[in-house]
Parts: sequence; structure tokens; C-alpha cells
Amino acid sequence: MKLIADTHCHTIASTHAYSSLTEVVRAAKAKGLYAVAVTDHGYAMPGAPGKWYFSNLGVVPQYFEGVLVLRGAEANLLDYSARLDLPENELESLDWVVASIHDPLMPKDHEPTVEECTALWLRAAQNPHIRVIGHSGSPKYRYDYERVIPEFGRCGKLVEINENSFSVRKSSIPNCVEIAKLCKKYGVPVVVNSDAHFHTQIGNFPRAEQLLQEIDFPEELVVNASVERFRTYLRQHTHVEVWPRES
Ligand SMILES: [Zn+2]
Ligand SMILES: [Zn+2]
Repeated sequence: MKLIADTHCHTIASTHAYSSLTEVVRAAKAKGLYAVAVTDHGYAMPGAPGKWYFSNLGVVPQYFEGVLVLRGAEANLLDYSARLDLPENELESLDWVVASIHDPLMPKDHEPTVEECTALWLRAAQNPHIRVIGHSGSPKYRYDYERVIPEFGRCGKLVEINENSFSVRKSSIPNCVEIAKLCKKYGVPVVVNSDAHFHTQIGNFPRAEQLLQEIDFPEELVVNASVERFRTYLRQHTHVEVWPRES
């Protein structure tokens, strides 16, 4: 399997990541990637990008250094109603939105229940701006996978297989395997991504790829394993102008 896009990464705009957007794009180019999605953290994250970062992101060319740049965000889910921390007009203006739970930003008045987390992800599935379901394997925020994962597929969402989880969210890995197996069972498309916080991590997904290999995951469900499949997804689900370039 040859992956042609990295669909989740961070730049210095997130202030706990360490490369510029240009360095990220050049790293993607050096890796031979067709596309990279730059998805800095939404406003609720400590040290998040400034007030006008997302609304001005259109100054970054769609095609830069020969790489398709998806100008995006990793929006934070803020509560069990799946509220996001970016306003509607900014979500609308972006090419690519990953939606993730980050524990410090969720309500702290009680421990989450499976029912609440199931309701959260079912609501998120209905949000037309969300493209990618970000690292959803946290044991604390476990949801009813059997019920929700087919819904992600029906709603055109991509479930991410996040390389960074193997480093920073190790307790999630058994759940990530389970989620990937259910994506296979229900034919739900996935994307493999680095969630890089430094440009040398762009396009590096060895453990995510190994996970898919170990469960004999069908390549045709990996949207970023083919330029044509990725472009088709962009045409169907985003307003990105996909150039008629030969793959
Ligand atoms: Zn995240
Ligand atoms: Zn991230």
C-alpha cells in the first residue's frame, strides 16, 4: 500500500508543534505525497492559533510547491452535543476538518458514559463540515462502535488511523484495532495520517500501516492509498478544486 496524502498534521500555529507550513509542505513533497492537510488545533486548545488564523488561511495557495494543500483544522468537540470550537462560517471556508475529543476540553462535571459518547459521535456524524473522525479510540470516551461506525460511513466521514496515537495515546490502541476491524466489517472508509507535530513526521505512518496489515484491511477502503480515490472523495465531499492532473 502506497499512501499518497497525509490528512492530519500541525504547524507552529498550534504552538506545541514546531515546523512552519512551508516546511510541512516541503516535507510532503520530499515524501512524494500528492496532498497534505494542514489541520491546526481549534480555538479552545491552550496555545491555539490566533483569532484570524482560520479565516485568513485562504492566503495559502491550494497548490503549493506542487503539493495539494488542504487548508484545514482539527476542531475540538466541546461537549456531548458535539459542539465544535470554530464558528460555522470558518468551518465552511475550510477545505478539511478533523473533529477530535481532547480530554482537557470536555466537561469535567462527571465521567462520560458510553451513551453520552455514542450520542456525541452520532451528532458529529450529522455535521456536514466534518470530514475526519479524529483519534476516537480513547477508553475514557468509549462509544457504541457497532452502532456508530456504520453511521460514519453513511454520512461520508472518514475514520482516521492515527500514527501519533501509537506514541501519545497508547491506551487507545486496542480500541483503534477494534474500530479498524469494524470499518472493515461495515465497509467504512478510513484515512491513515501522521498527526505530525514536526515536519520530519509527515508521511510517516509505519505503525498505522502495520495495524491495517495485521487485520488484512482492504486497500480500497483506504481513501489516501490512491490519488484517484482521494480525488474522487474531494470532488464528492469538499469544494476543493481538483486539478485534472494525471496521477
Ligand atoms: Zn488531536
Ligand atoms: Zn492533531
